[in-house]
Amino acid sequence: AAKFDGKGRFRFFDYEMDTRARRRLFLEHELRGALQRGEFHLAYQPIFSLATGRICGCEALLRWRHPRLGLIDTQECISVAEDSGQIESIGEWVLNAAIRDAAGWPDSVRLSVNLSLAQFINPALCDTILTSLSEHGLPATRLELELTESIFLRDTTDTEGHLRALRAAGIRIALDDFGTGYSSLAYLRSLPLDRIKIDRAFVQAITTHPETAAIVRAIIAIAKALDMDTCAEGVEGGAQLTVLRAEGCDTVQGFALAEPMAPAALAAFLTGNITVPALVAASRSAAE
Ligand code: C2E
Ligand code: MG
Ligand code: MG
Ligand code: MG
Repeated sequence: AAKFDGKGRFRFFDYEMDTRARRRLFLEHELRGALQRGEFHLAYQPIFSLATGRICGCEALLRWRHPRLGLIDTQECISVAEDSGQIESIGEWVLNAAIRDAAGWPDSVRLSVNLSLAQFINPALCDTILTSLSEHGLPATRLELELTESIFLRDTTDTEGHLRALRAAGIRIALDDFGTGYSSLAYLRSLPLDRIKIDRAFVQAITTHPETAAIVRAIIAIAKALDMDTCAEGVEGGAQLTVLRAEGCDTVQGFALAEPMAPAALAAFLTGNITVPALVAASRSAAE
């Protein structure tokens, strides 16, 4: 579409881009008071051990319910928070709330929390986390931080130092969305990591695309050789589970097993000893 710019000149105008930019500006503005207004909550998605079929962890996922717009897409919310310098305060709220909740879970259930780059590079991060852990009585060994390959874009000596400090405190580190970013085998070799989370783009193609299955197999082999464990993200079907089990993947997470849920629903899930039909079926087909 074209329109006059007021000075008599004709200008092309992209309404869609304009709408998107306006929405972002609006969200950025609305995000400013969201923490104080109590508009955030957390959802927890269980992570299961493939060997035992039991829940071994939960990932905390931020949820923002805007009073007028309703639930905002989390990716969009995080991206606006990162670009507008709000991720550190929001991230600190997430860490505190999640650590508080996880302190009430069984010892066998670990807490995973996603961290943005700006949080990771903050020199105070480790102390802030340790304070929160001791306040709520959660052992550091029950906490896992999920970082993406974006940390590799930075000076590696710095990155390595931060990772070592967190791990020295007993906190585990997982590399999230592995395979979608700037993955480099050199980083895997030199950085202290505990777990690789295989991105759902790979997991979901594992049964239909032999090349993808080969890549997943290779990722699992590399992780094992480097003494890291693996988690497959975004498992949506039983057939994917069967392949992941055969390939020796350690843990799984996805809608086929359990969707992200409110803290109360998770508490019921944890105490009810609820079995997951897809996992039972996958272990049955493995035994046959
Ligand atoms: P992520 O860390 O990779 O989290 C997994 C995302 O995949 C979640 O989306 C989850 O709801 C979704 N998911 C889980 N199972 C399935 C499945 O079987 N199929 C499909 N299609 N999706 C599945 P969500 O909650 O919208 O979060 C999106 C991203 O936002 C997260 O990706 C993470 O990068 C970021 N994020 C979420 N919470 C936080 C937070 O507290 N802090 C930071 N820095 N980032 C966060
Ligand atoms: Mg994650
Ligand atoms: Mg992920
Ligand atoms: Mg992600």
